[in-house]
Amino acid sequence: MAGEPQADCLFCKIVKGEVPATVVKETETTVAFRDINPQAPVHVLVIPKVHYADAGSLAAAEPGIAADVLREAGEVALQENGEKGFRIVFNTGAGAGQTVFHAHAHVLGGRGFNWPPG
Ligand code: AMP
Ligand code: ZN
Repeated sequence: MAGEPQADCLFCKIVKGEVPATVVKETETTVAFRDINPQAPVHVLVIPKVHYADAGSLAAAEPGIAADVLREAGEVALQENGEKGFRIVFNTGAGAGQTVFHAHAHVLGGRGFNWPPG
């Protein structure tokens, strides 16, 4: 069923506590944890506890939870990086560099960022 945990999904395992993660913030619907391969001094992933393959499918099925992910991304950035600017990235599809097919926001901060992105 849509949104149900997937046995072979790494981030579902993090939600269930079967794979360890450094959790920095958790709500009823979301978990935020440090990326294992950080690309900036602040690099946190915010995920919904429900399983959807990417941010667009999450927003289509569960707009309230998609909003929770965005709100938490902002709150984690404030918690980790203060009032400085930050970047939220949703890689979507293998062609754009998505490697884990459970929706997640990358929250990046603590350094400058180029535009256009690489
Ligand atoms: P993406 O490439 O957008 O799908 O992002 C997946 C992210 O998950 C990458 O930045 C990885 O470094 C990160 N990642 C993979 N495994 C883990 C893990 N066990 N704990 C924390 N982050 C992870
Ligand atoms: Zn999952």
